[in-house]
Amino acid sequence: MTEAAGPADAADDTAAATTARQQGEDGWQPTEAKEVWKVEIAKLRQRSGTRKQVARTAAVSGATISDAQVPEDQPVAVDFLVEAVGDSVSVTGSVAAQWSSECRRCLDPVTGPIELRVQEMFEPEPTEGETYPLGSETLDLEPMIRDVIMLELPVAPLCREECPGPVPEAFEVVPSDADGEGEDGEPERDPRWAALDGLQLDDG
Ligand SMILES: [Zn+2]
Repeated sequence: MTEAAGPADAADDTAAATTARQQGEDGWQPTEAKEVWKVEIAKLRQRSGTRKQVARTAAVSGATISDAQVPEDQPVAVDFLVEAVGDSVSVTGSVAAQWSSECRRCLDPVTGPIELRVQEMFEPEPTEGETYPLGSETLDLEPMIRDVIMLELPVAPLCREECPGPVPEAFEVVPSDADGEGEDGEPERDPRWAALDGLQLDDG
């Protein structure tokens, strides 16, 4: 994991530079993504039961598995209800994004939608793998959004169920003018074997 830290950071910088030029497209602000995902919770936490709606669209970094990703220049839209529950904060709502990948057979680009419901707890002292950390003033949604997206990303996707693979021609073994059988019912021989017949005759 530590080995990936360097290159991943470099990729972040590249993505930030790229998205900076696209800023304003579609009305979302990728360069501010890191801050966009931070929710002010100081007031909310003063009274249990206080809630607010948080609807945001921004890029999420690192939502990548080996087979697929939500690219860092693509928006992720969330609509959450954030609610103080005792010392903790619950976040429930929806996450929508578009994943990108390659077909495992033909390597053509493939994309698809991610639409999911989340229900997560943020706690001052989180339990690893179960709840997320809660600061005193802010709550960072991005790690949670990244996690739930990564669980939804497809493993070994196909462009379509019947995708024949990289070289469709290679599978067209039956010419249109032959059904694989000769007039006499004997299997028709591939003409390419004729050369081999010649060799065998020479042997005999
Ligand atoms: Zn394919």
